[in-house]
Amino acid sequence: MKPTTTSESWQAFPCGPRWPLWLRICLALPLTIALANTVACTKGTSADASAAPKSESTAATPASPEAAPADSAPLPHIDSKRAFQYTREVTAFGPRYMGSENHKKLERYILDHLKGDQVEDDAFTADTVEGKFPVRNIIAKFPGKKDGIVVILGHYDTNYPLRNTGYVGANDGGSSTAILLEYANQLRGNKRDGYSVWLVWTDGEEAVKTWSDTDSLYGTRHLAEKWEKDGTLKKIKALMVMDMIGDADLDINRTTNGTAWLLDLIYAAAERGGYQSHFYATEGAIEDDHVPFVKRGVPSADVIDLDYGYNNVFHHSPQDTMDKLSPKSLEIVGDTILETIHMLDQR
Ligand SMILES: [Zn+2]
Repeated sequence: MKPTTTSESWQAFPCGPRWPLWLRICLALPLTIALANTVACTKGTSADASAAPKSESTAATPASPEAAPADSAPLPHIDSKRAFQYTREVTAFGPRYMGSENHKKLERYILDHLKGDQVEDDAFTADTVEGKFPVRNIIAKFPGKKDGIVVILGHYDTNYPLRNTGYVGANDGGSSTAILLEYANQLRGNKRDGYSVWLVWTDGEEAVKTWSDTDSLYGTRHLAEKWEKDGTLKKIKALMVMDMIGDADLDINRTTNGTAWLLDLIYAAAERGGYQSHFYATEGAIEDDHVPFVKRGVPSADVIDLDYGYNNVFHHSPQDTMDKLSPKSLEIVGDTILETIHMLDQR
């Protein structure tokens, strides 16, 4: 199964970064309807897939002056080969949908890579239209000296409706699991000078039948509610979701239902690495793991490339396999987000 979006509906709207915002919103409305029946983990409710060239001159959002780095420290750098190897290993488990044996194996794999770290579970049972499933968000905490928390999330479950199709979710589920494991490698060690960083491998991001407010985001809806009750939400300075970030043809959307200043800060970090051509050539609202937190006022951003293959054909398709991915893309996103954390620490 794959999104029902037709090539026509993506191409019909000549709206790009050059167009005024109000016009882009107007043009996006019919697309919202066109996408309403899409079975998607990360359902695009509007998007702009016009053929805007990826260049600095046409990028949607220039960095704001206050987003400039406060110092000239060397840019952080992930080990992209290792991150890519994690993606390969995670994908090799096969389908990892909620309730499956492979899902349990992947939980153990993640925990094995977090030995010695401060790890917590947010585990519960989700009552869905396909029955009850155990859901387990895995949280690794890396303390900092500054008061406040930066949260990075990425889902590790794979699409449930495609469970019998050979679907392995290399990009959608695999890349997000892997980049978080690599972030853990980068954060482990001495107490950070900046904010505490919490990594969350989220579960139950995918719908079990048809994406809706009640059939999607099982893990993060639970976690956001829990963190609201225990006061954690108030301590979160920024929250960033990683999803589908391994596409060799990397084109991160500006996800407009996020927090503008945080989206701008991510862009400024990308500029520091010279990666801005991979950011924000397209924009639109996307439903993903950031939504339960946005609804509660947490500064949030979704870092996602929902343009996976021509007309997004690899998304939720058995063609979502390792050969479509590139270590360079993991590096671009990995370095950019680590730099964003560094810039948040300076604020
Ligand atoms: Zn998905």
